[in-house]
Amino acid sequence: MKSVRGHTKYVDPVCGMSVEPATAAARTRYNGVEIFFCAEGCKARFEADPQKYAAAQPKGFWGRYLERLNKATGGRPPSCCH
Ligand SMILES: [Zn+2]
Repeated sequence: MKSVRGHTKYVDPVCGMSVEPATAAARTRYNGVEIFFCAEGCKARFEADPQKYAAAQPKGFWGRYLERLNKATGGRPPSCCH
């Protein structure tokens, strides 16, 4: 069996920490992308002003995020409620 772990880390956009989905303290959804946080406080700060944190990411962050998401979903936007 091969391990496929490695580059599957998520970054808490508020504090910049790496977060693993399995151990994330909080999560939210923004622009259809699931975002993980190291703490509830970080999530609260993000949700208070998501655009500020999304815009503060280095260029390409969201692109890569979405690219990875597209790979996982076969290029279709994730549908959650329909
Ligand atoms: Zn954090």
